[in-house]
Amino acid sequence: MRSKIVAGNWKMNKNHKETEALLAELSAKLPDTNAEVMVAPTFVNLASAVEHLESSAIEVIAQNMHFEESGAFTGEISADMLLDIGVDTVIIGHSERRAYFGENDEILRKKVVAGLAKGMRIMFCFGEELQDRKSGDHFKVVASQLKNALFGLPAGEWAKIILAYEPVWAIGTGETASPEQAQEMHAFIRKTLTEAYDAKIANNVSILYGGSVKPGNAVEIFSKPDVDGGLIGGAALVADDFIAIIKAI
Ligand code: 13P
Repeated sequence: MRSKIVAGNWKMNKNHKETEALLAELSAKLPDTNAEVMVAPTFVNLASAVEHLESSAIEVIAQNMHFEESGAFTGEISADMLLDIGVDTVIIGHSERRAYFGENDEILRKKVVAGLAKGMRIMFCFGEELQDRKSGDHFKVVASQLKNALFGLPAGEWAKIILAYEPVWAIGTGETASPEQAQEMHAFIRKTLTEAYDAKIANNVSILYGGSVKPGNAVEIFSKPDVDGGLIGGAALVADDFIAIIKAI
């Protein structure tokens, strides 16, 4: 059975003091849940966040990593460095990495392969842009993002992969995909995975929705059968909102 997951992607927000304060509030208010709860603070606060949450059920994950193991790659962070501080899950392929930092399918595939080789869990993000949806190409774009970065990986690796469908037009815009649009795409993703691998892999992978999830729309989005949780941006920065979203799952 696939897990339910609610993850907060803090992006480039919260200094050290603010990170500690938000973690303390989240730990104190965390409801009983069967879902996995994850937060992704910035790199500089990862180690202290892991320490802070040592006895908490909240998992600390990273927002990015480089595919090279070590060496002259100024400004980059390796899988080993993350594992060394107790972070074993990493977000790869966020649309902001693709749009602002030139990460294409080829680079993302290298990152996925590098993380998996170290035994990390990969939360792989993908999703179409507004013009793709307008032109009706959204299924084609999503299928090609998945194929280019993930298909061909050994079947066994899929136990370590979490998918996060994040339509770019719904990120930080206040515009959410309707629960029906999310369900339609998630079902398409499972069908595509069934064709590329098999139904077991397709049914066991958690597929999260991301893009303007808020306390007010989370229940409806999470009620869809192929939506296994959410990757939350803005609302994850406010403890009560994130807690409300966790309660919605
Ligand atoms: P928002 O929830 O702010 O739209 O961001 C979604 C996102 O990009 C999560 O990774």
